[in-house]
Amino acid sequence: MTIFSTNKMIACLFFILLIPFIVVCTYTWFYIEFSSKHEFQTTISRFTANASKANIETPVNKIKQIFRSLSSNLDEADIEKYLAGQPTDLDTVIPAITDSTVFFSHIIISNPADKYKIYPNVALTSFSPRSRPWYPMTATKDFISYSDPYTSMLSDISGTSKSKKKSITASMNLFNKHSDFIGNIAFDLDLKSISSTINNKTSPYNGKFLIVATSGEVVLSENKIEILRKKVPQSWIEQASNVEGNFHDSQEKVFVFYKTYMNPDWIAFTVVNESDYKNISSSAMQTFWIVTLCCLVFYMVMVVLAKLYMEQIISRLYMSINGIDPKKEKITISAIYENIRESKKNLEKAVHDSTTDGLTQIFNRRKFDIDTHSLASSKHTFFLAMIDIDNFKKINDTYGHDTGDIVLKTVSKMGRQVIDSEHNIYRFGGEELCVIYVGEDYDYFYQLIATWLKMVSIREWREPDLQVTFSAGIAKFTARDTVEQILKHADEKLYQAKSTGKNRIIGL
Ligand code: GH3
Ligand code: MG
Ligand code: MG
Repeated sequence: MTIFSTNKMIACLFFILLIPFIVVCTYTWFYIEFSSKHEFQTTISRFTANASKANIETPVNKIKQIFRSLSSNLDEADIEKYLAGQPTDLDTVIPAITDSTVFFSHIIISNPADKYKIYPNVALTSFSPRSRPWYPMTATKDFISYSDPYTSMLSDISGTSKSKKKSITASMNLFNKHSDFIGNIAFDLDLKSISSTINNKTSPYNGKFLIVATSGEVVLSENKIEILRKKVPQSWIEQASNVEGNFHDSQEKVFVFYKTYMNPDWIAFTVVNESDYKNISSSAMQTFWIVTLCCLVFYMVMVVLAKLYMEQIISRLYMSINGIDPKKEKITISAIYENIRESKKNLEKAVHDSTTDGLTQIFNRRKFDIDTHSLASSKHTFFLAMIDIDNFKKINDTYGHDTGDIVLKTVSKMGRQVIDSEHNIYRFGGEELCVIYVGEDYDYFYQLIATWLKMVSIREWREPDLQVTFSAGIAKFTARDTVEQILKHADEKLYQAKSTGKNRIIGL
């Protein structure tokens, strides 16, 4: 037995209500994911551009200004005097430049004959500026050449470094007003001092900002130990192929943002660890999950309340229909279900009893009247067969009333077997039966009745010499007729059958 419960309905309601919630949640999830990624990209790109401006563009512009002012104010005589150790303005200008800026560690001035002077003075045995890697190959006026990192012949300023010092030098060939080559001025860049403006603490997402040469060697970095000692992976240099952009290094588990420069051929990188990005961006996701969880709990509470409320409404309704005082009695939802089921069963039994004949278990006269009037009012064409068992009085008299009942029951049962449910069979009264056939095929109907008569007439009964037959009259109902008319016609045919010898069917 199925136990009635509102659980299924509530579960359905819950899932239906959950659909828009799931849609909104999915949309929000994607939105947070997308916007946090977008926010991350724009923030780090902006940071990389600003940091590059401060740490590459600004120093390079200042270096350019110094070179320009020097080259426009220097002539052949100044250089020669300076190199020969004779008094000249350069004696004050050169120290002033190194003292006033943080960019340069040494300044080398040389003439076309490769005579040179280094400030601050460094004792070198064999040094030829023209053979140094930083010396410009092409003699172009006003062109500042930035070298790649190279091994310097000069030691550290402090002179403590035991390893060979690496350096980057910016140099410019000098020309007089007749465009004759008059010498070269070169500045060793003090990368550690230039790097002092880099402050990675201000980088969003704990990013690390550094500047590298195309060889991958770190040129400028907050961590001064890395300068010209550490390299970034070669793949980063290869991937930094545009002016600016970003990529993900799955091996190093980092996001890399870059901005590239020419002369100096440097690349500014901001490197953010995957874990730092996830930690920071996951706070929005955390909030999302907390809100989602709270909503789900709220949903469930609402569903439980809805279930209790619905059950209460149903039971109140039931009690008010059935005149039960809710103050005195409490009825559960499954008890209501059982009561309704019982009532339905009783109703079905009552309908069956009121339309079925108790002895023969075929429809009764009451049902016959209902069906014929309903067919007549709907103007349906149908055939009616009226059947009367032959010499039934004699059967009763000879074999007893009980045998008469058995005969009546058996003939009805045979009729039910032959005439299927579409063609209803009724006990019209006494031992008179009726069959209604709703359809056009008269021959088919006639054959049904004939088959039934044959079955009854050939049946061998337990009672000696008992033979049962019936007579039948068939009439057709058309839209113009009344029920009484068709009954009259069928009865006339039946009478005809009786009067012409019984055990026969008189049709149309
Ligand atoms: P006919 O061939 O002309 O029809 O002759 P008949 O003897 O069958 O005559 P009729 O139809 O007039 O007789 C019906 C008899 O059926 C009368 C009645 O005693 C009997 N009868 C009616 N209802 C029942 C019943 O429920 N049980 C039994 N055993 N007999 C019934
Ligand atoms: Mg009769
Ligand atoms: Mg009879």
